[in-house]
Amino acid sequence: MTHKICKECGEINSGSARYCSNCNSSLLDVKKTEQSTEPINYSKVQSIAYSSDTVTIGQWVGIMIVLAIPFINIIALFVIAFGEFNESINNFGKASLILALVGIVIAILLRGCTGLL
Ligand SMILES: [Zn+2]
Repeated sequence: MTHKICKECGEINSGSARYCSNCNSSLLDVKKTEQSTEPINYSKVQSIAYSSDTVTIGQWVGIMIVLAIPFINIIALFVIAFGEFNESINNFGKASLILALVGIVIAILLRGCTGLL
């Protein structure tokens, strides 16, 4: 006997259920769980959710290496800002893009003023 635990409200539904019987949210991406009387460990669920939102040191190192490469880093910034990444990485990418664009605009303006095109 399997069951599905609703992610939204914690209701225990049958293993074949597609929608929660309590709150009607989709159970399609909920894994079937073996029947047990054990209560849901919310602190464990929260720690998993938290860790998935945290960017690991390895990810940051990878991002910084890519951003250290000239020209590639501009493309990488767009990928980082708008790609399927963690929200923190997306925000970092967008912030870096804004700063890069400001830098480019200032560089163009300065060159225009000094006539060193
Ligand atoms: Zn529910």
